[in-house]
Amino acid sequence: DKKHYDVIIIGAGAAGLFCAFELGQSGKSVLVLDNGKKAGRKILMSGGGRCNFTNLYIEPGAFISHNPHFCKSALARYTQWDFIELVLKHNIAYHEKTLGQLFCDDSAEDIVNLLLTECDAGGVEIALRQTITSIEQLSDNYFNVISNERSITAHHLVVATGGLSMPGLGATPLGYKIAEQFGLYVYPTRAGLVPLTLHKPLLEQLAKLSGIAVPSIAQAKDGTSFRENTLFTHRGLSGPAILQISNYWHEGDAISLNLLPDGSISNILVDAKAKHPQQQLKTILSHSLPKRLVELMIDMKLLPEMTMAQLSLSQIENIDRLIHQWEIKPNGTEGYRTAEVTLGGVDTNCLSSKTMEVKSVKGLYFIGEVMDVTGWLGGYNFQWAWSSAHAAAEAIIQA
Ligand code: FAD
Repeated sequence: DKKHYDVIIIGAGAAGLFCAFELGQSGKSVLVLDNGKKAGRKILMSGGGRCNFTNLYIEPGAFISHNPHFCKSALARYTQWDFIELVLKHNIAYHEKTLGQLFCDDSAEDIVNLLLTECDAGGVEIALRQTITSIEQLSDNYFNVISNERSITAHHLVVATGGLSMPGLGATPLGYKIAEQFGLYVYPTRAGLVPLTLHKPLLEQLAKLSGIAVPSIAQAKDGTSFRENTLFTHRGLSGPAILQISNYWHEGDAISLNLLPDGSISNILVDAKAKHPQQQLKTILSHSLPKRLVELMIDMKLLPEMTMAQLSLSQIENIDRLIHQWEIKPNGTEGYRTAEVTLGGVDTNCLSSKTMEVKSVKGLYFIGEVMDVTGWLGGYNFQWAWSSAHAAAEAIIQA
């Protein structure tokens, strides 16, 4: 085995493999170390097995970070159009599912194969099943990495170990530990793009709606909102609207659900009161909302059981608030077990937004999800992996 490389990359995931092939193809010798028995395991699982590899509407506002401007430069220099071009070069069939989200027609394996084919073309070496035991900086631009199998040196060390979500797929905190070893701040991490859980009485009541998806607008305390489906499950709330809002939800906050984003329930009720005074309120509401939801709200005494004639104007106002601004207080998230991403991570103020290099450590780089940049649901997180990897590769090639 070779003992010295131009670049060592830790993590054979989206960012690591992308960075590796660009470096390899520019003539750098590159070794990628990964703890798993396969490269790109998270990619294979992504997008329900079809990998939502980017989004047509990538914009910096779709990324959450304590340093919101950080992502701009990298996203501008390697865009969704650049990645789409690469996908086309590999003849991978894809489609837009919704809201600009691009998925493979066949399988996420197409994206892993794309990355591995490009790595091969660049002569990239990938060492799997590595347990990394030590990382040391010997001098500027000179690092020693020791694993259970080998001891190697390199001029550049790129950390691409991802986040903590889905520990079953090899997620570990190694990247955060490396950051701390080099004196960088790591923002506390928490699960993102994750279903929200509910406390007992409410959970038991809403569990009766299990399986129902309602087109909705979910809003977080800070006013951020997403218009997508909310899905009731036997564990709590899920569906794209809830996964998106989970990135903005903090312990103790309530979220607000608008269950009828296209209509005004008070207009509907005022109209029905005049035209159909003998009809039951629940019959009228069931024209606009799932019947099981209306029945449950009556059981929960959130809605009165009466005819339209009996309904007062102040009751209509209350119902309007309930349907358009239903406040629900989750008691937590399902955690890393089911989360798609990890919020928080390596403080981007410690890194150059042009190169992803650590400002205080020459030759050390962080790319992808390990840093404190988290995208929305919909291909944004992979685009961040590609864009940040490209920024680091470009810098190392020019160094
Ligand atoms: P990863 O791709 O997670 O790669 C990190 C690599 O580092 C892994 O191979 C890991 O094994 C390795 N590693 C970790 N610790 C060590 C260690 N101690 N030693 C050696 N190696 C280590 N995003 C989208 O944009 N679209 C989607 O459709 C999508 N679907 C998803 C579905 C699921 C189920 C999950 C969990 C995530 C999904 N994401 C999606 C998020 C996306 O997968 C990640 O944001 C992206 O993979 C991050 O890339 P990365 O290279 O930074 O990390």
